[in-house]
Amino acid sequence: MANLNIDSEKDRTYDAIVIGSGISGGWSAKELCERGLKTLVLERGRDVKHIKDYPTTNMYPWEFEHRNELPYQVKQENPIVSKCYAFHEDAAHFFVKDKEHPYIQDKPFDWIRGYQVGGKSLLWARQTQRWSDFDFEGPARDGFAVDWPIRYADLKSWYDHVERFAGIAGDRDGLPELPDGEFLPGYPLNVVEKYFKQSIEGKYPGRKVISARCAHISQPQPIHIQQGRTQCQNRTLCQRGCPFGGYFSSNSSTLPWAAKTGKMTLRPDSVVHSILYDEGKGRAIGVKVIDRNTKEEIEFYARIIFVNAAAINTNLILLNSTSNRFPNGLGNDSETLGKYVAFHNYNARVYAEYEGLLDFKTEGRNPAGGGYIPRFRNLHEQETDYLRGYAAGFGAWRSESADQSGLGKDLKTSLLNPKLGNWGVGSHMMGETIPKAESYVALDKDKKDDWGVPLLKISIDYDENDHKMKKDYLDTMEEMFKVAGFSNIRRDEAWQAPGLDIHEMGGVRMGHDAKTSVLNKWNQMHAVPNVFVTDGACMTSTSTQNPSLTYMAFSARSVDYAVSEMKKGNL
Ligand SMILES: Cc1cc2nc3c(=O)[nH]c(=O)nc-3n(C[C@H](O)[C@H](O)[C@H](O)COP(=O)(O)OP(=O)(O)OC[C@H]3O[C@@H](n4cnc5c(N)ncnc54)[C@H](O)[C@@H]3O)c2cc1C
Ligand code: SF4
Repeated sequence: MANLNIDSEKDRTYDAIVIGSGISGGWSAKELCERGLKTLVLERGRDVKHIKDYPTTNMYPWEFEHRNELPYQVKQENPIVSKCYAFHEDAAHFFVKDKEHPYIQDKPFDWIRGYQVGGKSLLWARQTQRWSDFDFEGPARDGFAVDWPIRYADLKSWYDHVERFAGIAGDRDGLPELPDGEFLPGYPLNVVEKYFKQSIEGKYPGRKVISARCAHISQPQPIHIQQGRTQCQNRTLCQRGCPFGGYFSSNSSTLPWAAKTGKMTLRPDSVVHSILYDEGKGRAIGVKVIDRNTKEEIEFYARIIFVNAAAINTNLILLNSTSNRFPNGLGNDSETLGKYVAFHNYNARVYAEYEGLLDFKTEGRNPAGGGYIPRFRNLHEQETDYLRGYAAGFGAWRSESADQSGLGKDLKTSLLNPKLGNWGVGSHMMGETIPKAESYVALDKDKKDDWGVPLLKISIDYDENDHKMKKDYLDTMEEMFKVAGFSNIRRDEAWQAPGLDIHEMGGVRMGHDAKTSVLNKWNQMHAVPNVFVTDGACMTSTSTQNPSLTYMAFSARSVDYAVSEMKKGNL
């Protein structure tokens, strides 16, 4: 029973509620507060204040008890999150541990989460590419899922808007399949990355190797200084939280900006259990929250609700929001809620060596991570026996090794003078997967978590299309590596489960038709117009681009629409 004594209903009433304070929730909060709405941001995790709560940010390698490794016991206790490349001693405190928040894997799914103020925005790898019409037209052209109710032109000015504020470094490459944006200077490719670019672009028209675009302030603009952020120092210790605000996170950027308006109330430790639906009014009226620490039940009310709990948790909250009108989850007239979930196929890598350009080495670090090969398969016509395509990362580094034999002075001398070896080169695939009804998340009927919320069952897998795409990537990258004269080429079939790409999307998809989708073109529920979903749950298809920039643009666009509808008296 809701505790109605803690304060009056009026004190628990806001203009807007945002569920989740990660990348998308931070943007929703900023945009709502800027437009003058009294906004409550509910976050299930603890508070994390910019700089103050980055305990490892300035630690030297030798100051870590385990030299930034995690003890065997921690890895044994956390078999899922330990698979994430960033789960180390310096950032482990920002990851959900396996036992803290169990879920049911009907099929293997590595669900990587960050439950705190800022969500995964503290941890992300900051790769940011726009979608193009090759992506938005994909389902209609290739006959899967449903047609996106928008096109690139609908989102373009919102990409401009979020890029200017967040700070995105990149080159203007002039590629229709990967539109240019409001970029700060890009990070240069190193000599071998440039060499690979020339080899590939000379031999294969239509294939490009560009500098990866990333959410780093390579050259601060007044808007970044106003946020209290400054130039990225290229330390590449970002997952610890950055004291310079050099990369974009909710903690360094959108949340403090929203707070400055005086309109935001941020309530950490607030587990949203469900959204409250009023049958008489035909609209959502608020949310039911369980206090993370006291387990007290509290209700909060608002005119509009933005659901930004990250794709799978947004599905969970909506599925758990049942009423007579919506017995199978809020807004679920189409019976598609929880279905058509998809992800990115990161299941293969190729490594090699390059024995040329040995007069060169690299100095310093590149926070963008190197090169990016935009999707080139099946762009203009269907040319393979699988649908859609893949983008790929590409990076080169000069290997170093030191003779570790001997003792005393000799050993010190050889450790201090490592020998440079050949260049190492590597690539990983980022493939589009096809959303299908049989890829779903659902509530378990019996098991609940410590806050009384049903556990989630996840049933998502690779399919034949993914396997064919993976083989094509491996064959194609191997061939391109051979063309570039690389040696010792190794194919790595990663065999990782879905989820580890950390790009899960869908379940609450957008579409033209209320019979086959949950959201309309404004990320607004067809059936419950004062509820908006602007995180990865809204995605009708997945494309190959890293998705978070698109969630930011959706959030800003959708808030603009919602507030204008409120002003017109329509919401
Ligand atoms: C190591 C790593 C690397 C990545 N690299 C990239 C990249 O290079 N590019 C890219 O685009 N993306 C990347 N991602 C993915 C990116 O982090 C996510 O796409 C992005 O954070 C999603 O934003 P969000 O707002 O949907 O979710 P989140 O940022 O996860 O925020 C969701 C918030 O909601 C809260 N929440 C959940 N349930 C509830 C509830 N019931 N009640 C209240 N609050 C709740 C969570 O605690 C969390 O704070 C990466 C992720 C990781 C971990
Ligand atoms: S690379 Fe840039 S953003 Fe990352 S920690 Fe260093 S200064 Fe901060």
